[in-house]
Amino acid sequence: MPIDAHTRFVSLLGYPLGHSLSPEIHNTAFQAQNINMVYLCMEVHPDNLKRALDGFKAAKFVGSNVTIPHKQAVYGLVDELSDQAKAVGAVNTVVCRYGKDGEVESLYGDNTDIRGFLDPLAPYAPGLRGEEMVIWGAGGAARAVAYAMLTEYQPVSLTIVARNVEKAGLLAEYLSEYDQQDALKVMPFADATRQVRNSRLLVNATPLGMHSQADATPWQVSEEFSAGQVVYDLIYNPQNTRLLKEAATRGAETLGGLEMLIRQAAASYQQWTNQEMPLDVVREAVKRRLASQ
Ligand code: NAP
Repeated sequence: MPIDAHTRFVSLLGYPLGHSLSPEIHNTAFQAQNINMVYLCMEVHPDNLKRALDGFKAAKFVGSNVTIPHKQAVYGLVDELSDQAKAVGAVNTVVCRYGKDGEVESLYGDNTDIRGFLDPLAPYAPGLRGEEMVIWGAGGAARAVAYAMLTEYQPVSLTIVARNVEKAGLLAEYLSEYDQQDALKVMPFADATRQVRNSRLLVNATPLGMHSQADATPWQVSEEFSAGQVVYDLIYNPQNTRLLKEAATRGAETLGGLEMLIRQAAASYQQWTNQEMPLDVVREAVKRRLASQ
């Protein structure tokens, strides 16, 4: 589809903007479905964020993704918020809502990381409800993941394993209203052996194991993993991290972060286009891109 006077814009807002797979994901899908939209990376300084959002209205954008460091700031700048965005206090997707006059009436902020995280877990869902669970890490992704685990699976215990226990405590406090069963606990790595051994779902929300430090893992003692566990690494490059390889060797089910990345994109895409993202075409394009890096 050629870019012409009718082409409509979707952006990725971040600062600074490093390498991102999002343009590949969305532009592949637009082309596959013959949709006259283009996805662009926009590096916007935090001081200019409000002006950029006003620009979406003026230039009649379709919407935007939001990445580091703007997710919290955009939360405070949009006109309406989804329940998920409210729950985690962060926006990763903006949808421009149009009035009858064809002008953008309001900006709607959503957080699709929650659906992105949960969709790949759906085949395991029946075995996860009410079980013990662990998250390594207490940053932005951990917040969305912990909310998703609490509300979808009602775990009997959900232990946030972190090097900064105070920060993890603030995360637990933030999510306390969704913690009906008093499941949330906070623990340093050195104390979490029993929790790791007994958990049914374990999620890596740290950067330990990503391409720049591929020998790293959030959990050194692979003997603690076993069949019956699901080990989910949010890292998508490499696709098969040291954590996943070691967990698989011990018989655990494993999930990498690439599918989460694609599913959160699909949840945004659906809101911008009213179409389901062609997942197979996108998966192929993204894997090709990763292989060529
Ligand atoms: P973040 O906000 O920076 O949080 C990272 C967390 O990991 C923090 O709790 C940090 O601890 C901890 N951490 C970092 N280095 C550590 C180390 N050496 N030992 C122990 N803990 C360490 O990052 P994020 O946005 O949550 O992202 C976390 C990971 O998830 C990244 O690898 C990211 O690529 C991945 N992710 C994937 C998707 C996807 O769609 N697949 C989406 C979001 C994120 P401190 O607080 O003490 O620094």
